[in-house]
Amino acid sequence: CGVFGVVGVTDASNFVALGLHALQHRGQEAGGIVTHAPETGFNQQRRMGLVRDNFTSSSMMETLPGTIGIGHVRYSTAGSKGQTAMRDVQPFFGEFSMGGAAIAHNGNITNALSLRRELIERGSIFQSSSDSECIIHLMARSMGRTIPDRMEEALRKVEGAFSIVAMTRTKLIGCRDPLGVRPLVLGKIGDGWALASETCALDIIGAEFVREIKPGEMVVITEKGVSSHYPFRPARSRFCIFEHVYFSRPDSIQGGRSVYETRENIGRELAKEAPVEADLVCPVPDSGTPAAIGYSLQSGIPYAMGIIRNQYMGRTFIEPTESIRNMGVRLKLNVNRALIKGKRVILVDDSVVRGTTSRKIKEMILDAGAAEVHFRIASPPTAWPCFYGVDTPQREKLLAATMSEEEMRAHLGVDSLKFISLDGLYRAVGEAEGRDPKAPAYCDACFSGEYPVAPSDMIEQGFEA
Ligand code: SF4
Ligand code: MG
Repeated sequence: CGVFGVVGVTDASNFVALGLHALQHRGQEAGGIVTHAPETGFNQQRRMGLVRDNFTSSSMMETLPGTIGIGHVRYSTAGSKGQTAMRDVQPFFGEFSMGGAAIAHNGNITNALSLRRELIERGSIFQSSSDSECIIHLMARSMGRTIPDRMEEALRKVEGAFSIVAMTRTKLIGCRDPLGVRPLVLGKIGDGWALASETCALDIIGAEFVREIKPGEMVVITEKGVSSHYPFRPARSRFCIFEHVYFSRPDSIQGGRSVYETRENIGRELAKEAPVEADLVCPVPDSGTPAAIGYSLQSGIPYAMGIIRNQYMGRTFIEPTESIRNMGVRLKLNVNRALIKGKRVILVDDSVVRGTTSRKIKEMILDAGAAEVHFRIASPPTAWPCFYGVDTPQREKLLAATMSEEEMRAHLGVDSLKFISLDGLYRAVGEAEGRDPKAPAYCDACFSGEYPVAPSDMIEQGFEA
């Protein structure tokens, strides 16, 4: 998911809509905006679908007046299975004795089920199936005197990954979990301030990137300035390494690093680790593009657009059912036949999850008359599900959970298949020594199976890490 907030600007809702539009790659199922104006109180709109289809008309934006606002773009993850229902669309809103508050959450709460059970036993009435709603109920039960105090208390009971943007009538609040698994950045715009999942959302509104919110930090922002709090026990940060591989936009800066440059580095590492003789390096667009450029630069094999993407389709993995997902690849990608015929082609993609995309693409490339197809993947085999806010399927559906690399190669029917090593990936994100097995600098659980926060709800349901 993507979160965005702004305070101290006229027509906050327009800024929020633009910010969410820049974060649309983080979630396309639904979106919502909450603002506050003294004359109207809190204003709230939630819709299924894309930001540009819902939050552009003047009739819509007029319903969202105010100089403070937050928003959320959603896709459903491990915690809340299946298609988004209207009642699960964020931001969530609660009325407390000291006033209202809205909250938007990116990540996944790993003890949400046990929290929910406890809260329901003690009288909370849940409106949604979302893990994020726990936070509002925990805040309602808190005896804290201010909303930020209540939020601190609530978040100390929550486990897992959370980057949160929240608001009261006058305050914009941001918080990252102690490990900083999901991103959150601070920007300055005129006399106002912005919070966003990624810097690309600051760029779109012309805000200056100030800094990242630190892991475990809570910021409370008013028109007067930013105050920092550290509600949690300090911990070593474990930013999601998959943000660098796939999830973040390449024009964003994460962890002080250009995501694009990191991806190009991954491609270079791949070329060093897994060279092969071929005529062309082609990306599986768009997610494989920077890594393919890196592979080409390192190997000296020409880069070419062997697959052309229809720009008007969403990301395939967002589609909820297997049959639509199968069709999706063809609707979205087509082979550049004239270029491919008779060539030995290296295809670079960011990840193999179910293997659906790679299989279809291999068929299309061979149909077009390619002489050889070599897959190079810019992440290690995805063998474990993510419980921290990225939508990987159950373990059984992950190709790498049940097959060896050679079995995957045979299953995909390609001439060769290589994944970057975990050490190679760490080198590409700037860890010269590779992955420190005693204290890894990132979360890499979907590749290593080492979960930095025990996924306690899942363990309760029989998951074995
Ligand atoms: Fe990111 Fe993978 Fe960790 Fe999930 S499990 S937070 S996708 S690195
Ligand atoms: Mg892709």
